[in-house]
Amino acid sequence: MKIIKSTGPEIFDIELEKDLLAKNKSLAKENKKRLDRSNILAIDIMGSIGSGKTSLIKAILKRLRMGGKVAVIAGDLTTTIDAQRIEEEGARVIQVNTGKECHLDANLIRQAMNHMKLDGVKVLFIENVGNLICPGEFPLGAHKRLVVTSVTEGPYTLLKHPYIFAEADVIVLNKIDLAQAMKVSPSQLEKDAKKINPRVPFIKTNVIRGIGIPKIIEALGLKP
Ligand code: MG
Ligand code: ZN
Repeated sequence: MKIIKSTGPEIFDIELEKDLLAKNKSLAKENKKRLDRSNILAIDIMGSIGSGKTSLIKAILKRLRMGGKVAVIAGDLTTTIDAQRIEEEGARVIQVNTGKECHLDANLIRQAMNHMKLDGVKVLFIENVGNLICPGEFPLGAHKRLVVTSVTEGPYTLLKHPYIFAEADVIVLNKIDLAQAMKVSPSQLEKDAKKINPRVPFIKTNVIRGIGIPKIIEALGLKP
């Protein structure tokens, strides 16, 4: 079989990409400093569309019962569906619509924080745009990064997207109740995860039913 590999600078200027990532990194550092000054723990939630990012955030909020001490930045191309769903749990929510951008970046988070009242907030969740490719390359300044994947994405998600899982501090496998129907083996996915990122927790969940949520809360260092 013939394989063509993308090696880089033909289409876009590689210097431009380097500068962009470096600029993002320095803005992410500034964001983190700002969060630290305010004593806010920030968590970047990444994963495909439909993997359960919003439902996961809702389930954590339900369990934590922290009300207005939690703020959420919800990233999405054009809709406010997720922000509305999260608002039901009593958290302060700001929607960031990225238009055609397929990831959040540190500058968008800085702008979002400028528009939020963060006094009294202890935890900030950032729901990234549904995508397993570039969000991993754009740190936002969050203290922890969680990647959620679900068995409905098929048996090869981790092997096909090693970079984002390598960036994760916590890996969540959601919708485990559907594993059999999808003919997907959670233990194989766990093995794949351990190959890519052996030191981080791999947590199996059914977030709709609250299964696995206490383990996530513990892994993220959140106090119930
Ligand atoms: Mg969502
Ligand atoms: Zn992107």
